[in-house]
Amino acid sequence: MQGNLTDEVLTISLPLCNYHLLGDRSGYLLVDAGARGQYRMFAAALARQGIRPDQIKLIVVTHAHFDHVGNLHAIQSDCGCPVVAHVKEAEILREGKTVIPPGLDRVGKVLSPIGRRVPWLFGFKPVAGDHVSSDLSLPKEYGFAVTVVPTPGHTVGSVSVVQDTGTACVGDLMTSHWLVGRDLVCHFGDDEGTVYESWRALLRMDVHTFLPAHGNPISAVQIARRLAQRTVASGVPPFPGEGDTGLDGENRPVERGTRFQQTTR
Ligand SMILES: [Zn+2]
Ligand SMILES: [Zn+2]
Repeated sequence: MQGNLTDEVLTISLPLCNYHLLGDRSGYLLVDAGARGQYRMFAAALARQGIRPDQIKLIVVTHAHFDHVGNLHAIQSDCGCPVVAHVKEAEILREGKTVIPPGLDRVGKVLSPIGRRVPWLFGFKPVAGDHVSSDLSLPKEYGFAVTVVPTPGHTVGSVSVVQDTGTACVGDLMTSHWLVGRDLVCHFGDDEGTVYESWRALLRMDVHTFLPAHGNPISAVQIARRLAQRTVASGVPPFPGEGDTGLDGENRPVERGTRFQQTTR
């Protein structure tokens, strides 16, 4: 089974979640599996793109929140492929446990306790991850030219899928969706400082375009600006590697070619 990656990412945007497909017709890697009840919409969107479920060879789950794994059981049953998850998230997946994260800002702090009173709203069918490890190396036989890296902050076991071309699917490590977060940070998460450290780690890997699970692509320039604002506002000294922000010497974005194809239902 080979999937030769190009720098093209196909994004299927359904209500609440983006599904990112990397690869080509010889094999796709799916990043995240959306919210419960969306399977038919997802399958229809795939069909419109001329993609059969069995062309999905591997699924990577960025983290085990309901809006990223709600559809996982149905998709995996259909395509029959392995699921890759960080060991911390795999425990939650296996148990089908609903985790409502703490709020990071005012909106999140109001909504989080409300969500915890109605966990049944966010349930999902348990799934056993096939390739679960903390080092996250992907099975080589799939041939995907990506690196799965731990990017904690939103959850402790969150991961991002970084393509060699400099595009990364980042789950909820950041968001550009007005409903899901503010100033590129999700309303919910484990630790805001760790979120920023993970942003920096991805910038140091020369990621120039971030594809969040909620909202449109985010550039390295936007992330670098947000980090700089935070540094000024908090008065904390820049982290090591702060200069490595995807900006050139004159503060212009470093542009690299990436094509995106976006589809909505
Ligand atoms: Zn999440
Ligand atoms: Zn989410």
